[in-house]
Amino acid sequence: MDYDLNEEQELLKKAAKGFLSKECKPLFVREMEEDPQGITPELWQKMAELGWMGLIFPEEYGGIGGSYLDLMVLLVEMGYSCLPGPFFSTVILGGMTLMEAGNEEKKQELLAGIAEGKIFVTLALTEATAGYSPERIAVKAEKDADNFVINGTKLFVPDAHLANYIICVARTKEGGNKEDGITLFLVDAKSQGVVITPLKTFAGDKLNEVVFNNVKVPERNILGELDKGWSIMKKVIQKAAIAKCAEMVGGGQRALELTIEQVTEREQFGVKVGSFQAIQHHCANILTYLETSRLMTHQAAWRISEGLPCEKEIAMTKAWVTDSCRSLLALAHQAVGGTGFMEEHDLQLYFRRTKAAGVYFGDADFHREALADVMGL
Ligand SMILES: Cc1cc2nc3c(=O)[nH]c(=O)nc-3n(C[C@H](O)[C@H](O)[C@H](O)COP(=O)(O)OP(=O)(O)OC[C@H]3O[C@@H](n4cnc5c(N)ncnc54)[C@H](O)[C@@H]3O)c2cc1C
Repeated sequence: MDYDLNEEQELLKKAAKGFLSKECKPLFVREMEEDPQGITPELWQKMAELGWMGLIFPEEYGGIGGSYLDLMVLLVEMGYSCLPGPFFSTVILGGMTLMEAGNEEKKQELLAGIAEGKIFVTLALTEATAGYSPERIAVKAEKDADNFVINGTKLFVPDAHLANYIICVARTKEGGNKEDGITLFLVDAKSQGVVITPLKTFAGDKLNEVVFNNVKVPERNILGELDKGWSIMKKVIQKAAIAKCAEMVGGGQRALELTIEQVTEREQFGVKVGSFQAIQHHCANILTYLETSRLMTHQAAWRISEGLPCEKEIAMTKAWVTDSCRSLLALAHQAVGGTGFMEEHDLQLYFRRTKAAGVYFGDADFHREALADVMGL
């Protein structure tokens, strides 16, 4: 395969880098960590005008019809700038689930709204056990005439505080195969019985507890088929895992640059610390972790774009990138020395985000187990 970006992807990358370097400076990132909304309406609208929200939606739904690999190009730049806000939740988790499972009416209604930056959607998947396998889904939905009634608590729901709709992954059947009996419900976030409480997070992202207290959802708001939601969720989790890898690669790139800046400026014993062999080895390892992560992410994203089998590549990539980017950041801190630990230094922004991205959509061990499954072990 060709690992180079095509002409349009190069243009997208350049435009995104230029835009985010102006609109999403580290000071803004810090302000948004403290801000309860986590994004300004102005920045969100500007991003919508650039076509980013509709990048991967087909044209008939108000999108641009871009590929999954195009989206990766954008996400690398978002990771590089630590972009805050609900792009990931609305476009990737919400939009991709709707694309996979929404009927024509729902797609027409919602995807264009997302593409215009007017509708926010999120996915309520994880619960107190914080896992990504079907047996972890305990929130229940029971049939009651033309409705389903949802009860239970979802945790770590991104940007639920902004969402117009929450896609709730609920259990509609007990017993037997745990993949069977899971259904996706499109819930109006203003429904009676939905209680959203923000959680405190170390990466400054906006995660929430969402309690569903006898929440009535009409049967027509089921996405996909009753009891058959897990096969869709599995695909969404896999794509989201690679999307997180792209963000980590972008963050890793910036961490490398910050490290090089420091070791080529900082002097100890009358010479630049970058001239010490120990630091040079750290930098060489950082670059190796980064480039292997970049290539693996590109390969997995390309296979997704091409509709090729990719279960193995996705599992390998998320496991590798999670561990490599953690090691990369630890080495960057080692090389930068004491200043890297200060809040004023940007390195800590990337360390915190990489740590969070590592656990989202399956940590390294989760994906190593998935890989062992693929290997028939
Ligand atoms: C939380 C915290 C608390 C601290 N508390 C104290 C304190 O109480 N008292 C105090 O005095 N200091 C304290 N420090 C400072 C600490 O001792 C220094 O940060 C540390 O010694 C590294 O120095 P530096 O940050 O100046 O990095 P630098 O000296 O710039 O080193 C950067 C990198 O270069 C490497 N390096 C430097 N020289 C060489 C060499 N000759 N050969 C090979 N590699 C080299 C280092 O190992 C490091 O990886 C603290 C630091 C932190 C983060």
